[in-house]
Amino acid sequence: MSKQPKILLIYTGGTIGMIKDFETGALKAFDFKDLLEKIPELRLLECEIETTSFEQPIDSSNMNPDLWVDLCNIIESNYDRCDGFVILHGSDTMSYTASALSFMLENLSKPVIFTGSQLPIGDLRTDAKENLITAIQIAALRKRNRSYITEVGLYFEYKLYRGNRSSKISAEHFEAFKSPNYPPLVTSGVHLTIEDEKLLPYKRKKLIVHRELKTDIMVVHLYPGISQKMLTSLLNNHEFSGVILLTFGSGNSTTSPWFIELLKKNIQIGIPVVNITQCTWGSVQMGNYETSTGLKNLGVISGKDLTIEAAITKMMYLNSQNLSPKVFKTIFETSLRGEMS
Ligand code: ASP
Repeated sequence: MSKQPKILLIYTGGTIGMIKDFETGALKAFDFKDLLEKIPELRLLECEIETTSFEQPIDSSNMNPDLWVDLCNIIESNYDRCDGFVILHGSDTMSYTASALSFMLENLSKPVIFTGSQLPIGDLRTDAKENLITAIQIAALRKRNRSYITEVGLYFEYKLYRGNRSSKISAEHFEAFKSPNYPPLVTSGVHLTIEDEKLLPYKRKKLIVHRELKTDIMVVHLYPGISQKMLTSLLNNHEFSGVILLTFGSGNSTTSPWFIELLKKNIQIGIPVVNITQCTWGSVQMGNYETSTGLKNLGVISGKDLTIEAAITKMMYLNSQNLSPKVFKTIFETSLRGEMS
């Protein structure tokens, strides 16, 4: 009998493992061991499942880069023993964690699949069971004696997305995530349909874990009439190592001289300014309109079709690497883990 793949299930918290406190009516975390008891079907899967849990399961709104490092440590220390990893995570910040881990885990050759649920696992109408069971099945997929999926993915409501292409789009529907600028990698129906040509290729290189992240990023969501006084006080103090501008349409902004001057000062002292669009679908294309030509000429970096989650975590990752502004721009505008087109 051939050896079954070994999957490590890592519970971080979130609705998937929560129960209702009947006194207060609020959801609170319960013991992870109960999770396996709630889904006896897990024993039917053709893989060996090991489990581990954060000592203190969290609501994912409390997720942070130290905990991302903890997750990387768990993965690294079990990497040779296990064939795949499934991370149970609250849906609220799941796309941030999935994006961050995609940059922190270089040369990944095994699946790291995030999943969670909109309703607690004990709820009658829960979406947790399907999400969990299929996420494990996908993590256990094999091809030519090695893992089929060799990247960070996010499985929710019948779709596996590339983690760093995903965003939470609904606080209400079971279909809570979208990958607006990249198709699903796997779709679950009667069969699992795998889009081979969309997957990241297998890498023979050794896993490298990047633990340094710089989190002092200024995110500026532009809107018509944004206050000069407020932006000037925010962007003039240089207490940050990077700026992400959420711009209009294909990367357009106001052409007011005060705004251009503010950005110019930051870029001149080596602070990278990245342009991503407020639109859900599509890409930044600076130079298409007069309202983005100025940004392009200043040396603003194109975030192309990055999600906000991927843009922030990519900047955290690259800002910790002491790159010259020119190299930073080149690398930021290059797809490192399939995060941009
Ligand atoms: N607030 C929860 C969390 O993100 C929601 C969920 O689990 O989906 O941890």
